[in-house]
Order: sequence, then C-alpha cells, then structure tokens
Amino acid sequence: METRRKIAGNFKKFKELRPQAFIFAKMQKEKPNIRTFSEAELKSWLADQGEKAFRGRQIREWLWKKHATAFDEMTSLSKELRNKLKAHFRLPALQVSHLQKSRDKTIKVGFRLEDDLLVEGVLIPSGGRYTACISSQVGCALGCRFCATARLGWNRNLVFDEIFDQVALLEKVCRENYQDKLDNIVLMGMGEPLQNYENVRKAIELLTGEGGPGYSPSRITLSTVGIIKGIKRMADEQVKYNLAVSLHAATDEKRSEIIPVNRQNNLEALGRSLKYFHEKTGTRITLEYLLMDNFNDNPEDAAKLAVFCRQFPCKINLIPYNPVEGVPYKTSEELKTLRFKTLLEKRNLVVNIRQSRGTDIDAACGQLANTQKKPGLRGKSGRPGTKTT
Ligand code: SAH
Repeated sequence: METRRKIAGNFKKFKELRPQAFIFAKMQKEKPNIRTFSEAELKSWLADQGEKAFRGRQIREWLWKKHATAFDEMTSLSKELRNKLKAHFRLPALQVSHLQKSRDKTIKVGFRLEDDLLVEGVLIPSGGRYTACISSQVGCALGCRFCATARLGWNRNLVFDEIFDQVALLEKVCRENYQDKLDNIVLMGMGEPLQNYENVRKAIELLTGEGGPGYSPSRITLSTVGIIKGIKRMADEQVKYNLAVSLHAATDEKRSEIIPVNRQNNLEALGRSLKYFHEKTGTRITLEYLLMDNFNDNPEDAAKLAVFCRQFPCKINLIPYNPVEGVPYKTSEELKTLRFKTLLEKRNLVVNIRQSRGTDIDAACGQLANTQKKPGLRGKSGRPGTKTT
C-alpha cells in the first residue's frame, strides 16, 4: 500500500517534471521510469516484492554508476527479479543518433531523447584534458540575438536523467576514441540551466554523489545568462561546482540589445548577486565575453568591463564571436581582441582568449543550430527535434 502511494507520488512528480513525456507515456500506457525512483523508494518496492533491501543499492548502482541501459545488464540480480523490474518499470536511456569528428579532434554527438527529440553535446579535447559540453533544454527561451539556438525557440526542459546520460555517453565516446576519461563537465550547450534548475541540480547531485560515477563538483561549471534568482539560490545552497556568466556587454543599454532578459536582470543586480555568490561559496566566477566587432570591443568597453569585474574575484574568458547567418554582428579582428585583452590585464584582471573548437563540424558555440534549417527538424519517427548552441 505504502509503495503504491509512493509510486503514485512519483508519477505525480514525473508528470510535473516532464509534462509532454508524461502524456506520451500515458498514451502508450507505459510503466514509470525506474530512474526517477530514489534508493529508499526502490527499497520499499523491493520489500513489497519480498526481495532483500540491499538490492536497492545494487539497482541504484546499476542505474547510475554502471549506467545500465537494460534490466538484463543487471547481472548481479536474479533473473526473477530482473523480470519483475521489467514488468513494473521502464528504463529509458539517451541514444547516440549521430557523431561527427572535427579536424581538431572535437567530437559532436547528437542525442535522441525518449520522445524522439534531438539535442547535442560536444567532447572537447584540449591540452590532454577532455571537456564534455552538455545541454539543459531542448531549444532555448532566452532569445539572445547573437545565438543560433535562440531561433529554435524553447521546446521542453531536459529531465535530470537526460542531462546525466549526456555525460555518461560522452564519457564513453572519450574512452572509445581517446582511451582517456573525462576531466571537465560544462553546462554550455543548448538552453538556460537556471530555467531548468531542479533537473540540473538533481543531475549534478547524481554525477557527484555516492552511488554514482563520482565526478568532482570542482570540475563542473554551470553557465548562465545571469538569472539573478537562480544565482542567489545557488549561493544559498552553497554549491560546490563553478559558475560562469555570459556577460557579453558591460552597459545595460548594450546588454539589453543583445540579451533581452537583461531588462529583468540588469547589471547592477547581477553584480550584487555575483558578489553574494562569491561570499557564500568562496569560488571565483568566470565571466564570458563574446567579442563583436565595433559593438563591444572598443577600449571604453574594456574599461567598463573592468569596473564591473572589480566587484568580486573573477576570471574573464574572451570568446571570438562565431558568425550566425542573418545576425548583424561580426567577429572582432585578432588585433582588437589582443588589445582588449591587454587593456584588461593592465587593470590586473585574469583573462583568457577561448579558442573556437570544432568549427568545421559546426560544433563551436552558437554554431550547432546553424546546420539546421528550421525549428521543426524531424527525428526518425517524424517528431520535431532540435540541436544545440
Ligand atoms: N544559457 C547559458 C548556457 C549556454 S552557454 C548561457 O547563456 O550561458 C553557450 C555559450 O555560447 C554562451 O556563453 C553563449 O553566449 C555563447 N554563444 C552563443 N552564441 C554564440 C556565437 N554565435 N558565438 C560564440 N559564442 C556564442
């Protein structure tokens, strides 16, 4: 009885987290997703089935540590228990739909979701280290003017297991292609992580917590456009992972022109929230700054950026703008980029120029959606899908 109530509760949670998939599942009279069950809930279900409680831990490890994608892979469980699991639950997993390797060894991976939508992740090798860049939403609702994903619009939030699976699959791609393990995870693919915070938080918990793959939170970075409420929440939770902010302009006038949500999250309030984040977590914040020719790359822009950066310890990543069709901005010239960097360094700031990676396969920031004609790209079975930034 107790378990049935819990399953009903879990179904409710599932319905809230994933409304479209819920309808899809309901239509197909599908069983609940086992990956949305906690270890305690699994143990209570096991007790109802007359099974030993320690199987709960084993199942959890199969799901999150060993990343089993079918119940029959769970070989430490009896065949009878595996059959019971099959009868009660479903075990969805992201599928690799396509894979492209760049000349610079960057690998772009397309992931097919359970409802047949597509998102992309990127594996970026650099100096003997490997970074997985993953998505948090299908499409994006922010409408930033320079970004190709913005054109796709927002389709749905990714559920925590879908965010987790991108890492698990990129880890596999890394081992198979480079015989090495992943070093860093960045939420810099498609979508705004702070508009899907519950799922992102849960995915990070599973990636870093006990009974999972055990990634170190210090190697994970969440990149946000600067949603103040979300930054404050992360600060109050004293998160252990890193925060990056896509700043791209240091005056409200310019920032609102390219990033519409700046109107509700202006620079003064953003600066305050970042200061608060630093006070609560002690970590240094990364500011990403996209350099666009004659828009935000002049000496006075550097001076204003330096003033903004003085509020808290930070590091600045200058990103060359990757042209997007139909967007009026141009990439800054190399000389201007170097001058901008020097001006910031003269003001004692830590600055890196981030190299574009995977441009030949459209895997660089803002490029992935370029290859797609319209938001309604069709997946294999004719459902709308989309690609990442
Ligand atoms: N919404 C989050 C996560 C997306 S991260 C955020 O805004 O941070 C994707 C990064 O790529 C962001 O820094 C974004 O501003 C940047 N980007 C988007 N379009 C780009 C383009 N055309 N060229 C270079 N970088 C781009």
